[in-house]
Order: sequence, then C-alpha cells, then structure tokens
Amino acid sequence: MKTNTKIPGWKDKILFTPGPLTTSPKVKQAMLRDLGSRDFEFIGVIKGIRELLLKAGQATSDEYTTVPLQGCGTYALEAVIGCYVPQDGKLLVVINGAYGHRIAKIASVLKIDFETMEFPEDQTPDPAQIQAKLKSDPNITNVAITHCETTTGIMNPIKEVGAIVKAAGAKFFVDAMSCFGAVPTNLAECNIDYLVSSANKCIEGVPGFSFVIAKISSLLETEGNARSLSFDLCAQYKGLEANGQFRFTPPTHAMLAFYQALLELDAEGGVEARAARYRNNYETLVKGMRKMGFEEYLDQKVQGYIITSFRYPKDPNFSFEKFYEALNERDYVIYPGKVSNADCFRIGNIGRISASDVRDLLGAIRDVIKEMGLKLL
Ligand SMILES: *Cc1c(COP(=O)(O)O)cnc(C)c1O
Repeated sequence: MKTNTKIPGWKDKILFTPGPLTTSPKVKQAMLRDLGSRDFEFIGVIKGIRELLLKAGQATSDEYTTVPLQGCGTYALEAVIGCYVPQDGKLLVVINGAYGHRIAKIASVLKIDFETMEFPEDQTPDPAQIQAKLKSDPNITNVAITHCETTTGIMNPIKEVGAIVKAAGAKFFVDAMSCFGAVPTNLAECNIDYLVSSANKCIEGVPGFSFVIAKISSLLETEGNARSLSFDLCAQYKGLEANGQFRFTPPTHAMLAFYQALLELDAEGGVEARAARYRNNYETLVKGMRKMGFEEYLDQKVQGYIITSFRYPKDPNFSFEKFYEALNERDYVIYPGKVSNADCFRIGNIGRISASDVRDLLGAIRDVIKEMGLKLL
C-alpha cells in the first residue's frame, strides 16, 4: 500500500465516505494562517460563519441563531441533549439506525429520562405512530430524530414529524449532520428548535468543530439547564452575542477553512446547486453499480442522495477487506457498512467530488471485481 506522505503536489486519495471528505485546494490553503482567537479578524470570521449557516438553513436572524462549538458532531449532539431537555423533562428518541441509537446513548449517559421509538433500518419512521405516542404520554417534552440516517442513507420525514411535535407542545431536535447544506431545509417550516451538523460534512470544511442552529426563544428557555460547563449552549450563545468570541479556545484553522467552504457553497449556487451536484453523483453511482450487478440495501423511494449502502455480492469469493484495500491502492476510499441485519458497504456522494470522480471510482471497482474473480451477474 502507498504511504500518504505529505509532499508538494501530492494528490490525496478521493474520499467516498460520510466525512471527513475531500475538500477543495482553497479550503486547505485557508488554514495556512495563524490568527489570534480574540483578534478582530477572527471575530469577523465567526460572524460570517454564523450568518452564512443561517442562510443555508433558510433561517432569519430574528428567529434563529448559530452556535458553533468545539469538537466533532457528536459533541454538538451531546450539547443539545444535555441542554434542551429540562431537569424534569422526558425525551423521545425516534430511531431507525445507529445515529438514532447514539442520541439515546447520550441521554442514558447524561441520566436523562428518555424513551426510544424504534423503526426498522430500511423504513422511515411513521409520523402517525409518533403522534399517537405523544398523545399517550404527556410527560414527553422533547423529541429527537436524524434527518439523513447515515447508517443506510435513508431520508427521514422531518417536516411531518416537526408539525406533530409542535402540535404536542414539545421541542424538536434534528440531527442533520450528514445532509445539512446539501438537502434544502427551511428550519422554521419544519418547526425545528435545534439542528446540528458539523464542519466536515456537506459544507465541505475540515473536522474540528460542530454547530447548532437554534430557535433563539427555545435556546433562551434552556438557561441553567446545562449538565456540563463546556457543553452549555446557552452560555456559548451569550458569550458570542456579548463579544463575538468563543468562551474557550476555538479551532481557528478549521474555522478559516470552513469560512472559505461556505463562500464556495455560495459561489456554487447555494444549497440547491450543491444538492444537484450530489444528486448527479448519486445517480451516476447507482446506475454504474447496478450495471455491474450490485444491489442497494434501501428501496429507492426512501434512499437519499447523500450516501448509499450496497449489499455484499453473493459470490463467496467476495471479501470486503480485500475489496476495500484494492480500491485504496487505486486511491479511492470507500466506507464499511453499519446496517445491523445485512452485510453492506457504503459509498458517499458528498465532498468536493463530481460525477467524473464517481465514474473513475466505478472504473476502479470494475477492475477490482475482475482482479478478485467475482461473478456478480
Ligand atoms: C457523522 C454523523 C454523526 C457523528 O459525527 P462525528 O463528527 O463523527 O461525531 C452523527 N450523526 C450523523 C447522522 C452523522 O452522519
């Protein structure tokens, strides 16, 4: 296997994963600076990021605010769960994959009263059942769900669920980690109180921080709820509003890269244009994979264009480790599966990649199948 030494002009492997993702040269170059975390230039970067993220969520600054937070996406999930559920509240976690389970795990570690509502991994949660649950248990004050459940790539009906949660008078939290910035979402229309995503997914930045887009009135109600100092979202918000700064050291380089990534999202034509590029990647991928004899795990009706799970071929000579390694040697990085009841691998369509990169990957997969002597059709 090649070693990925950093030499000038080195072209990194292409990442067909759910993140970290392939980023543009300008995003990488944006990090070649040292900015003081309390310097006015960096304060301007934070402000720009917060504003552009609101725009990506079709949200206005009188109703919503962006709260960036140090740490990867799970840190922001933990911040929301730890703050938005009141001390005497009860959380309902809607689950149809591993990331829904992660939210429940966070609630369990934080000793928050919660209940789960599980649906099969290949099905979208049924809003009518959620409605019935909320009617039957008036103690539920908070509801959480994933938007794109990255386990499979399924897209959950957040707008329908949001309306139900609002009608029940509960607070609505959406883990949109893997699709925010690439799936047009109007936060107010979906009745979202809190949405979480991270720097290294569809906005195409580098890892280092996550962000919460919160309804200001809901956020202010949570003052004093925090179960941790570092994860106190309301305090982080108040600090940012008071002087434009993080309370504690921010990841300055990652934020410089992210600001550049947001400018590139805008230049590309915003969320709609990014959606179109990713959808084209997805369509190119599944067409080529089907032609070779691969099958998707999900029914196309519920499959999103962010990431696709493919079943292992039935040929007994197939080994995912060998398949992965052979593609890696050709400079393509795919991703293992996470579905609990089927053997799958995943291919992501997101990051700074286009349909021509997908076609190159398909060509490499064809070569590897031949090399491994696999019969798929
Ligand atoms: C990637 C992802 C996460 C976790 O993000 P980390 O940055 O790895 O902590 C959580 N939820 C979903 C839906 C994701 O796709």
